[in-house]
Amino acid sequence: MLPTLRDRYSVPPDFSQLACDVPAFAPFTRSTGKGGSTIDWKDAAAVRSLTSALLERDFQLKVALPEDRLCPMVPSRLEYVLFVLRLVLATFDAPSASSTLPSLVGLDIGTGASCIYPLLAQRTYSRTSSSSSTRLKMLATDIDPRSLSYARRNVAQNGLEKEIEVFEVVQEDKVFPEKVINNAERIDFTMCNPPFYASEDEISSSLTAKELDPFAVCTGASNELLTQGGEVAFVSRMIEESLELGKDKIRWFTSLLGKFSSIAPLVELLKSQNIANYAVTPLPPQGQTTRWLIAWSLQDYRFPVELLYPNPLDLNPLEPPSSALNSGASTTRFLPPSLLPSTYHLPASVSSSSPALSLVDVRTILDDMLRDLAGGRGHDGGKEDHEKALSWTWRRREKEEASIEEEVVVRARRNVWSRSARRAAAGKGKGKEKATEPALMSVDAGSRGGEPGEGGLLLEMRLLVRPSPAASAASENAEDEQPPPPPPQPLHILALWTRGTDVDRAAYVGLWGYLVRKIGEAVRAKCQGEHGGEAGVVREGATRKVEEAEDPRGKRRKIEGDAQ
Ligand code: SAH
Repeated sequence: MLPTLRDRYSVPPDFSQLACDVPAFAPFTRSTGKGGSTIDWKDAAAVRSLTSALLERDFQLKVALPEDRLCPMVPSRLEYVLFVLRLVLATFDAPSASSTLPSLVGLDIGTGASCIYPLLAQRTYSRTSSSSSTRLKMLATDIDPRSLSYARRNVAQNGLEKEIEVFEVVQEDKVFPEKVINNAERIDFTMCNPPFYASEDEISSSLTAKELDPFAVCTGASNELLTQGGEVAFVSRMIEESLELGKDKIRWFTSLLGKFSSIAPLVELLKSQNIANYAVTPLPPQGQTTRWLIAWSLQDYRFPVELLYPNPLDLNPLEPPSSALNSGASTTRFLPPSLLPSTYHLPASVSSSSPALSLVDVRTILDDMLRDLAGGRGHDGGKEDHEKALSWTWRRREKEEASIEEEVVVRARRNVWSRSARRAAAGKGKGKEKATEPALMSVDAGSRGGEPGEGGLLLEMRLLVRPSPAASAASENAEDEQPPPPPPQPLHILALWTRGTDVDRAAYVGLWGYLVRKIGEAVRAKCQGEHGGEAGVVREGATRKVEEAEDPRGKRRKIEGDAQ
């Protein structure tokens, strides 16, 4: 899998070491007086030299940077590249399962003189793959002839002419011009570090607000910093063009945002265009400057929550969101509700004398339930999974320390949980698939996914069964000489919608609602079986959240298992 940025630039680079590794950088360093080295951040040549040295040492890239153009900071550029590659790989059929990574095509809008995103993407992706056949093709555009000539030179002097193609476009062109995007059959991701500002005035006021790179020197030319309407107008054009392009050509559209205030109007635009598969997140902060990332897709892979910062899966669902999440600078409030996991808390104990449900218990309950829905058929890994209305696969993942969780991926090709579907199934006799069922198309494991409804897939969801972090923390903190027996670990189930088109959201909400209801019943039944009718104890212990679903027509209703 891809390295995380924190592996490489978790601490600022050691400039003394960098000066040894890249002698050309040495003249720009000076002593901090505390045994270390630094550079004069106000000296544009020193900042350029730092960027060149990092690219040379860490990526074997020789990059020429003109004096009169923006000097990119390597860590923040790498952060975006890694983010977008992870996004694409996490939403690919059979992503990390094989050691061969898929061949990808990316598009960088406004690549600048450095051509930094395509160059970094090439180095990062080719190093990650163990196979020489894995390829990344990058298309890059810009409107600035001077930057374009540097960009081409930078591509050529690193021998990447086959992998990176640079296109000259004009301001009046589309942001995704046909002559560019038609160079690839399909494009897996687009990226852009747009000109952030609408006017010189805005630049000077933002400089005061520290919205530019944290370094005092700013060498950007006006075309790099200014665009009519600022970044909101630029990214709005992208959103509108993405709708014109339709779902087939481009999988993920992404852009950096330099200003927090740009998020709200862009999210409004996405919503007004009925695009619900989007996300906004800060890139993990680097130094003092935060940048935000906006991503959207018209295809059926949902944005993966793990890529949000902070990752909602690492947060304790029993605790109120931390102040970081509640603060005015949090992007959580802009996220579509369907992106965040829904949680169902299982009781800590089924009675005072009985232990909590174990992971195995919950797995068995879920298995039985899904088998029942699937008409009593076997499921796991069976060859004909693609022909089944419902299939599911368990993955066992060891997490850090002792906490173990269970995860199941459920794929549905047909709604078999709605009341009418169950009634129909019951009428025809349980355990029998209807002979008149229309033939369900296959999902070829090797095919490219991401097409709404492709392969007959109605939805895919992930259920994570895991102990509450609060309980594990409590048992870890027990420092008494004779530690009390660890409290029973309450489990919770997180549901994540991973695939399905926006219009099929009600199907996901319906299946989750159905499962929640059935799990509640199963837990009560288990309790009654063991304790002769102590069901009330369970009901008290279990809190339940059934999502308020917003169906595509905008009507709010409570979904209780019937999605049709
Ligand atoms: N990607 C580089 C440069 C970003 S500056 C980096 O991150 O360092 C923004 C760039 O967008 C400038 O090079 C500018 O010339 C270019 N640009 C502005 N409008 C454009 C348009 N309509 N199409 C393509 N590029 C554009």
